Amino acid sequence: MKSDNLEGGCLCGNIRFECTVGPSLVSYCHCRMCRKATGGPFSVMANFPRDSVTWSGEPRTRRSSPFATRGFCEHCGTPLCFQYDDSDHVSISVGAFDEPGHLRPIQHGGIESKLHWVSIDSELPTERCDDDPDYRRLVEETHWSPPFDSKPS
Ligand SMILES: [Zn+2]
Repeated sequence: MKSDNLEGGCLCGNIRFECTVGPSLVSYCHCRMCRKATGGPFSVMANFPRDSVTWSGEPRTRRSSPFATRGFCEHCGTPLCFQYDDSDHVSISVGAFDEPGHLRPIQHGGIESKLHWVSIDSELPTERCDDDPDYRRLVEETHWSPPFDSKPS
């Protein structure tokens, strides 16, 4: 993907960002944490190398699990990013980009928690949160209980 027009920012304009390379992944996430963090039925995030993203204004961060933080604008509350502590990538909310039409999701994550009335891009590949061995390791190491929905809701 070309890196043109990969700029964005929060609702109030306090925080702006620019990505110098295209995303390594764009995906839906249906997990309960993303629902709560965004206030939406699912999140859509684009994943970029951290060092390819330039921020103007610093997102305020909140620890959302023992191994990850979420960033937001402290003035307007726009949810902006998600970051694993030990990762060199950051996921940015697709809706915060000025031209999000360039950032089309190619997979569904957290499929075990997808709301039954969500019907979008159903031909795309799916993953469960616990399909990721790194994720399982982090959960085990930190004895953390993710607030997953274990049944369809
Ligand atoms: Zn703002």
